[in-house]
Amino acid sequence: MATTAEPAQARRELDDLQKLVALCKRRGFVFPSAEIYGGFANTYDYGPLGVLLKNNVRDAWIRAVVQRRDDVDLLDAAIITNPRVWEASGHVEQFNDPLVECRGECKSRFRADQIDATKCPNCGGPLSEPRMFNTMFQTYVGPTHEEHDIAYLRPETAQGMFVNFANVASTMRRRLPFGIAQIGKSFRNEITPGNFVFRTLEFEQMELEFFVEPGTDEEWFERWVDERERWYVNLGIRRENLRRYEHPKDKLSHYSKRTIDIEYRFPFGEGWGELEGIANRSKGPEDSSFDLWQHEQHSGQRMTLFDEEKKQHIRPGVVEPAAGLTRAALTFLIDSFEEEMLDPAKNDMRTVLHLHPAISPYKACVLPQYRNKPDLVRVARQVYEDLRRRWMIAYDSGSNIGKLYRRQDEIGTPFCITVDFQTLEDNKVTIRDRDSMDQSRFGRVPIVELRAWMESQLDY
Ligand code: ATP
Repeated sequence: MATTAEPAQARRELDDLQKLVALCKRRGFVFPSAEIYGGFANTYDYGPLGVLLKNNVRDAWIRAVVQRRDDVDLLDAAIITNPRVWEASGHVEQFNDPLVECRGECKSRFRADQIDATKCPNCGGPLSEPRMFNTMFQTYVGPTHEEHDIAYLRPETAQGMFVNFANVASTMRRRLPFGIAQIGKSFRNEITPGNFVFRTLEFEQMELEFFVEPGTDEEWFERWVDERERWYVNLGIRRENLRRYEHPKDKLSHYSKRTIDIEYRFPFGEGWGELEGIANRSKGPEDSSFDLWQHEQHSGQRMTLFDEEKKQHIRPGVVEPAAGLTRAALTFLIDSFEEEMLDPAKNDMRTVLHLHPAISPYKACVLPQYRNKPDLVRVARQVYEDLRRRWMIAYDSGSNIGKLYRRQDEIGTPFCITVDFQTLEDNKVTIRDRDSMDQSRFGRVPIVELRAWMESQLDY
């Protein structure tokens, strides 16, 4: 990949999350939600570039988990569904966090399992005894607000896959092993500080339930942990910023036989934090899916596949790689952020996002070298019109060329395609590489070959 060349000097990494928060607002990635009213706890809106970034993360996940496999189908299930789903899954009973409150000055709230203190970490005041509270958002369906009208906003997408297991298996004529993948919003009443979009009340998840022959769950679990870790590395996350954390046996969720988190070294809190959790949810009888088993008990419906050879119904085991789309988008931003000192004498520093081209909001920016030369603008617009039929491309002529390059660096655009006076004679353009800032390594590329050139650079 042409754009992954590292600058010669050591990278000045993101040391303070607020720098990224400011960039995200300034360049239209993420805005505080309802800012004119002072914002809202742990809630953010995604701006024009944030939406493109998120869509690219989504597409990269679908390419890896669905498109390039033979054994996974997509699903898009309802956010508000029959509340019995959440009784069967254990969420009504067990989706609780221990809450402690500061009884001193600041009255802050914390999750008891996330702080290692007997006093308030903010003001040093005394803390209340932990009290369990359910993290699911509750609502009412129907005109009355009676007990039997209660419904929930889903706290995970996973249950959609379990309750549709038989529908997908039969319509797609699946045999084991096979998976159901879903991307969508989930909601949790998070009470602890969010650290920007790391932890929000509503967020998007990318979850896969991979159903397997009973007895093969442990082997598939290992494979999925490797596979998912590789996905982040292939998309440019530096390996030294990733590690695996295995949940101790006595701390496992009620459905899990084994869970490994892929953690990232975030520049806040204790550093390492969960990026994705891979769980072996096969804690049902005979290593079968705990959730299918529970839904079978609660609904009275069979949650099995009929094995033609063995002539028997089989309830499969299941492995779940559960990733956060919005948390992954944040991680790509953090890991790619650099403040690069170009000239210490002039204190000339550029901010650059070294995003993998698959993730960057725009794949290229087309620029006329001079904005007030109509011939250059005309050709630049033609190049732009042609390329944007195929990719998300930016066009900018609003300033001098040096400033325009810096603007694109800051939003991670891998290539800048410049139309200059020579273009009018030889029909070729100059391409600047974001990471090295080199304008000659690709040579001058003929306009007629630009699409093919881009295709070769963006073959991910
Ligand atoms: P945490 O320990 O951080 O609360 P979790 O273990 O409860 O996370 P899971 O239930 O395993 O999280 O959810 C799968 C993924 O969904 C997480 O790895 C994370 O990327 C994402 N996720 C979970 N909660 C949130 C949230 N409140 N905001 C953003 N992403 C989240």
